[in-house]
Amino acid sequence: MGAPMNAAQGAGTDPRTALVLFSGGQDSTACLAWALSRYAQVETIGFDYGQRHRVELQCRGVVRQALTDAFPAWGAKLGEDHLLDLGLLGQISSTALTEARAIEMQANGLPNTFVPGRNLLFLNLAAVVAYRRGASVLVGGMCETDYSGYPDCRDNTLKALQVALSLGLATPMTVETPLMFIDKAQTWALSEQLGGAALQAIIQEHTHTCYLGVRDQRHEWGHGCGTCPACELRAQGWLRYRAAA
Ligand code: ZN
Repeated sequence: MGAPMNAAQGAGTDPRTALVLFSGGQDSTACLAWALSRYAQVETIGFDYGQRHRVELQCRGVVRQALTDAFPAWGAKLGEDHLLDLGLLGQISSTALTEARAIEMQANGLPNTFVPGRNLLFLNLAAVVAYRRGASVLVGGMCETDYSGYPDCRDNTLKALQVALSLGLATPMTVETPLMFIDKAQTWALSEQLGGAALQAIIQEHTHTCYLGVRDQRHEWGHGCGTCPACELRAQGWLRYRAAA
């Protein structure tokens, strides 16, 4: 899934337009920075599916603005944001992400935060928007390294989807997942490489990952309850990154 480089565009900029699945969280912010460092034009898409951690939707505009302010060259490439209303997803699934239920493991080994096929649905919808916007690259923060076991985050799932989308739309649609084979500590290292301390400060202060939507507790790694699975992953990743630095 490597992106072709066009030297004529200067500085290795890929001339294609990328559409980034951007939730306002740590991982998708790293993906947005990754796309802004590569592609000539970048747009963002988000989904409102009645998630309990809806506060992340409010972080999206704040993060986009902070990136534009701190990195003017990226700001010049950052185009429209698309927010899709997916209330439908809350109607057809019943999970701890969309209802007031405790987060726990289910008998099938998946946490009950699992919204079945959520990423497949998101990428299909993103592809429709990308087609209309003339974008041919979809960028998502899916990861099989320390993901929570979600089968629709797996590399082969997404490669199959890339083929299906390209055939079904009769136009090349590349699915890029820069975080697929790196862990949370390496994601911090990637953000350092892409935008240094300025980017890391934006991720710490303005992104949201906590499943419970807690924003009034500030840790070194960012805001969150500190105990839900998303906070634990984020905190452990930061500690490992700091230990290796
Ligand atoms: Zn939390």
